[in-house]
Amino acid sequence: MALVVQKFGGTSVGDAERIRAVADHVARTRRQGQDVVVVVSAMGKTTDELLRLASDVSGTRPPRELDMLLTSGERVSMALLCMALADLGVDAVSFTGSQAGIITDSAHTRAKILEVRGDRLREALAEGRVPVVAGFQGVSADRDVTTLGRGGSDTTAVALAAALEAESCEIYTDVTGVFTADPRIVPKARRLGRVSFEEMLEISASGGRVLVLRSVEFARNHHVPLHVRSSFTWEPGTWVVEEDESMEQAVVTAVTHDTSEAKITVTGVPDRPGLAARLFRTLADRSVNVDMIVQNTSHEGTTDISFTVPRVDLDTSVQLAGALATEIGAGEVLADAGIAKVSLVGAGMRSHPGISATMFETLADEGINIEMISTSSIRITCVVRADLVEQAVQALHTAFGLDGT
Ligand code: ASP
Ligand code: MG
Repeated sequence: MALVVQKFGGTSVGDAERIRAVADHVARTRRQGQDVVVVVSAMGKTTDELLRLASDVSGTRPPRELDMLLTSGERVSMALLCMALADLGVDAVSFTGSQAGIITDSAHTRAKILEVRGDRLREALAEGRVPVVAGFQGVSADRDVTTLGRGGSDTTAVALAAALEAESCEIYTDVTGVFTADPRIVPKARRLGRVSFEEMLEISASGGRVLVLRSVEFARNHHVPLHVRSSFTWEPGTWVVEEDESMEQAVVTAVTHDTSEAKITVTGVPDRPGLAARLFRTLADRSVNVDMIVQNTSHEGTTDISFTVPRVDLDTSVQLAGALATEIGAGEVLADAGIAKVSLVGAGMRSHPGISATMFETLADEGINIEMISTSSIRITCVVRADLVEQAVQALHTAFGLDGT
């Protein structure tokens, strides 16, 4: 029998009624003759509430205990869903990440999956049962419970789909798919029928919040087709698949934006080999994820280096950069929390010249200044003032013909 993995996010299992609706859908999928493995997130805002509770109780919050706490959220969902399925006569059985054989490294709160054993899931399927797995969690080689980082249930679902050789992995959420832009900002945004893994990676990395980046990487590497759809309307959503000729080759597929980063500039860096290396090594050693980097041309033996970091890491990064600047005789360290990124993503860019020019002209016409630029073969990103980013997204969406009716 064909196997499908169905993952339900926090809003999809947000209350008792939602859980019964999900059970109904799982039961229907079974009746249509498919095997199903279900992955659930914690109900609603449970994970946020547990984190708040941890902060209220403790300033230390040992990561091992934080993981023990957070994994309880998904346990609640999986047990309740199995109960709702029992009412419908579906023989379902819940498994924690550990019971499902999801083996991770021991980096608590951001563990990486090393291996999926999945024996118990295979056994349950062979017995005609529906395994319901707690997302976002696993067990380390030291036998401690771990979590995969926020939004990690997507990754659980894709990892299980790969290990169990499922035909596809359905990600149920509160939006109906992947859109040409955030519909809250661009009412004329359209849902995409299909996007390639490469485009989806760029969309996730540049601010599209529908899928966690790591889950898309995993799906691409293991050739797992993803179907992002709504558990509120159940209508077909967006397929994320291997790129092929039949894909509609729009030059630009989506306009994304990201307001979660901040910019740091180190001025007057002596223009010598090894100084940029030291700066970025210092940040990397503290797990700061640097995104865009711009170094201007040397002027009288010094350069300015600007880069972006997650805003949550701004203070740490400024401190680290400041200490290094003093040590190497650089100028000042300037912090700017008022930036945002706007990006164009599209596989068609590879073969169409002039996309950057049109992007820059569109921003210029809006009077929006570009502070930094970076590109990949299928993405162009500009850093602009945060308060102008929505205007930028709207103008670009229109300029590249993405507006629907
Ligand atoms: N419950 C976890 C979170 O909120 C994992 C997930 O939802 O995917 O981050
Ligand atoms: Mg969630």
